[in-house]
Amino acid sequence: MSVFRYEKDSDGIVTVTMDMTGPVNAMNEEYRSAMAETVERLEQEEGLSGVVLASAKKVFFAGGDLYELLAAKKGEEDVFLAMIGRIKDQLRRLEKLPVPVVAAINGAALGGGFEICLSCNYRIAADIKGVKIGLPEVGLELLPGGGGVVRMVNLLGLEAALPYLMEGKQVDAAKALKAGLIHETVASLDELIPRAKAYILENKGNEAAAVQPWDTKGYKVPGGGPNSPKIAQMLTVAPAMLFQKTRGILPAPEQILDVAAQAAALDFDTAQTVESRGLAYLAVTPQAKNMITTFFFQMNKVNGGASRPKDFEPNTVSKVGVLGAGMMGQGIAYVSAMAGIQVVLKDISIDAAQKGKSYSEKLLAKQVAKGRMDEAKKEAILGLIKPTADDADLQGCDLIIEAVFENIELKNKITAATEQYLAEGGVWGSNTSSLPISQLAEASGKPENFIGIHFFSPVDKMPLVEVICGEKTSDETLAKAFDYTKQIRKTPIVVNDSLAFFTSRTFGTYLDEGVRLLAEGEHPIRIDNLGKAIGMPVGPLTVHDEVSLELTRKAQETWDDMGVQDKFGEQVTMRQVVGTMIGEYGRGGRYHGGGFYEYAEDGGKTIWPKLLDLYYNSELDIPDQDIKDRLLFRQVIETLKCLESGVLRNVPDGNIGSIMGIGAPVWTGGFIQFVNTYGMDKFIARCDELAEKYGERFKAPAIVSEKLAAGELFA
Ligand code: NAD
Repeated sequence: MSVFRYEKDSDGIVTVTMDMTGPVNAMNEEYRSAMAETVERLEQEEGLSGVVLASAKKVFFAGGDLYELLAAKKGEEDVFLAMIGRIKDQLRRLEKLPVPVVAAINGAALGGGFEICLSCNYRIAADIKGVKIGLPEVGLELLPGGGGVVRMVNLLGLEAALPYLMEGKQVDAAKALKAGLIHETVASLDELIPRAKAYILENKGNEAAAVQPWDTKGYKVPGGGPNSPKIAQMLTVAPAMLFQKTRGILPAPEQILDVAAQAAALDFDTAQTVESRGLAYLAVTPQAKNMITTFFFQMNKVNGGASRPKDFEPNTVSKVGVLGAGMMGQGIAYVSAMAGIQVVLKDISIDAAQKGKSYSEKLLAKQVAKGRMDEAKKEAILGLIKPTADDADLQGCDLIIEAVFENIELKNKITAATEQYLAEGGVWGSNTSSLPISQLAEASGKPENFIGIHFFSPVDKMPLVEVICGEKTSDETLAKAFDYTKQIRKTPIVVNDSLAFFTSRTFGTYLDEGVRLLAEGEHPIRIDNLGKAIGMPVGPLTVHDEVSLELTRKAQETWDDMGVQDKFGEQVTMRQVVGTMIGEYGRGGRYHGGGFYEYAEDGGKTIWPKLLDLYYNSELDIPDQDIKDRLLFRQVIETLKCLESGVLRNVPDGNIGSIMGIGAPVWTGGFIQFVNTYGMDKFIARCDELAEKYGERFKAPAIVSEKLAAGELFA
């Protein structure tokens, strides 16, 4: 039996229900055979009055097969083009059937799923949660190659189609109707197929209902072609605006713009060929390989719990204690209450604790103002947070997260004083950003229940949590901490204990290299611009100002006290520059009144003029590529060292952690995946070059040559 059920009713309507092997329908070989067979049969069906295309799965259709896309190889584009050609040909035949073809959209129809719908004459969706419509291919550095670009441009016009194509904008059923992506909605799933059939019956004999708009005689793309004055004007500025956004390192949006503009000018079938070539080009780029690998396959592993010990039942936290209602504590309280967890928010005074709670009030009020939440829900969430200055309120917490100042003695004192209030089997989590967990756990009577739960600022926005296992942390504790992060809807990565763990340690190399370039005499603006040019969200000096030079100074001081100064490479330059900036000029960073930059009231920033007198050397001549590689390779190398030494337990955590926690450029697929597509031999050679010119810190870690010798990729 085919995986596409084929049922003809007494009215001559054939309902095709897609029910492929596995949990979802996807555009793979099974699909292509089933669709070929179905179209063939429909073309020959006698007494056919219409076709309803439906899905037996919760998701209408999941889209392209990412395994196939990942397997597409440079030099073998012909095979790939033939495969896309087959998909396109089938959809073209479907839309050219002499009867109305109706898509009955019961769940998410994204990417290839929506391309199938676009090939139907009429699209009806159930207006229910779970229905999402759009073309998200650009997010994986691909383009909709199943006719999606061409049909969207023909349907909506170039200008209206671009946000869906170039930004991967997704909408629910009601918005899709308003935007003209679908024709009709029904209120429930039960009404979907009956309504689709009723539409067909209503249109019996109406030939126009069986013809796609772009196949009607004299059809013109809405809004005009590329030569119409308005579109022509848009197209002159669009590439420059796009470049500002992508900095020229993401090929997909550029390619989509190009294909879409051509689609508005060419005839339908020629435009389809141009679209196929566009996808074949993108599918073999390193950027697409990196993004598919990391954002799809590895993200699924991370979120699917690959790093969670298996032998423990899922655990739910019902009462969490948060110690310290400062910047981090207030955010942790908010995200926990949002997940329905009862929160005890403790600070040294009730006023300080109240102030921490008012942070949640502000965020919730904003949501009410935007109509995303009602007053009752806001009050219910706020009611879950109890501000206090009394330790005894912590009684019975199944998790306590400590977020007080970054000071070992203080943290140890607090652990000893409040651990007793934990419920039986409760977990103690420290939100320290750099202090070793094993050392902090020494203050605990139950070090096996002690773990690092490292949030990022601002907690309500940042999706990542770095969970850190100390030497004595038990697997059960890890499983519980992991489950808590999922409960509050964050993405957890799990790492082993080490100074500054994975994210802070690697991020530190970006700051360090920025400061070294400055001290060598490079112009600060150039350093920051080239940091952005590789795809980092902000330049190293700007971000240093943001996290504050003060923090660097304090961290150096703490490491000095702990006797671990320069443990991961010398930081003499960093200490000298930060020492001068703060010690001589009081420039501790943006929050402290300015750092490398001066900040105006209106949010603008200019270079602090004295910085140029102190360091700038106009004679210096470092090539752009060297500066870019120095900023990128330092972070890649540090990440590889973390993997080599077991701080990182696996590759997906390293890639996802680097993107979501450090701001690694998305095109790299994360700091480990970068090496896979850069080429390991090429990477080692480039590291050698940089090491020779700029210092031993650029030597590639041995793990790269080991992988190369074994003929393996980092996976
Ligand atoms: P903060 O200075 O904003 O807040 C610390 C809070 O702890 C203050 O409100 C203080 O009154 C309170 N506190 C001090 N002693 C206390 C006690 N005995 N009992 C209860 N509360 C007490 O600091 P923060 O930025 O929120 O950082 C807190 C922790 O989180 C630190 O360990 C820091 O390293 C870590 N962290 C910070 C960031 C960040 O970006 N700021 C990111 C990740 C982790």
